[in-house]
Amino acid sequence: MGRRVRHAVGAVMRLANLGGRAVLITGDRALDVFDAGGFGPDPMAVLENWAAFTAWARSAPAGSPFDPALLGPPVPRPRQVFAVALNYPPHAAEAGFEPPADPLVFTKFPTCIAGPQETIELPGDRVDWEVELVAVIGRGGHRIAETRALDHVAGYTVGQDLSERRVQALGKPPQFSLAKSFPGFGPIGPKLVTEVAPDAAITCLLNDEVVQQASLADMIFGVPELVARLSAVCPLLPGDLIFTGTPAGVGNRRTPPRYLTAADVLTSRIDGLGELRTRFRATPPWTGAGRESTSRSVS
Ligand code: ZN
Repeated sequence: MGRRVRHAVGAVMRLANLGGRAVLITGDRALDVFDAGGFGPDPMAVLENWAAFTAWARSAPAGSPFDPALLGPPVPRPRQVFAVALNYPPHAAEAGFEPPADPLVFTKFPTCIAGPQETIELPGDRVDWEVELVAVIGRGGHRIAETRALDHVAGYTVGQDLSERRVQALGKPPQFSLAKSFPGFGPIGPKLVTEVAPDAAITCLLNDEVVQQASLADMIFGVPELVARLSAVCPLLPGDLIFTGTPAGVGNRRTPPRYLTAADVLTSRIDGLGELRTRFRATPPWTGAGRESTSRSVS
């Protein structure tokens, strides 16, 4: 994934969201960074003050044991969420396209962001999986040079670009952003990690079956180039997310196609970053309330 991924801040740091408060994770311990250092407590406020935070965090103590079930999205309210289509050649091929010469960019509207172990409502029967590396912007900037791009990246996390393929296929040409922005369609986590290996394995499991597996080194446009290309147009802001595209193996390109059901558990994993475990529930049955009701009494 490009020439250089490693970060310049020194030791690897892991920032998480524990019950809505920013914590520094060391092994199985969490340190509340507001109590210990005056940063946050909102994870978004830590990203706004990233340089001072990382300088402090290098010598922070280890904290205390915590309940991983309380982890929320490490970046709960990004202002901009960029996503890149067809960024792995085998996925472009399975989708029936040539590898793109320029990044194909859409948005996941920020209300879709969810935590690393949530149960997400399925709005239809064509919801598909896409495991992705997500880059998190620390220091913002406009027209960032590719050679300086990683100075603007706070770290990396695992993401799922959940997609409702029926909505995605509405209209000609098809459109991506709405179909990928239902509530919960952007789970991220479990932590923001300041480094990821350039050739880390990226894997998606549907129940016990590996459905996607690749190396981050297979990406067409690496994180530095994406930061440069996106910021050439949009000023990037602290906490912005870049979903960097998915490998081959999505459900709607299988024979026969396969989509998520309320019985499935989806595991999304990147070596060194951890994993998401996402469960699903069906849309609640229609109750008859509202203007579409056909059984309203007219007495
Ligand atoms: Zn995607």
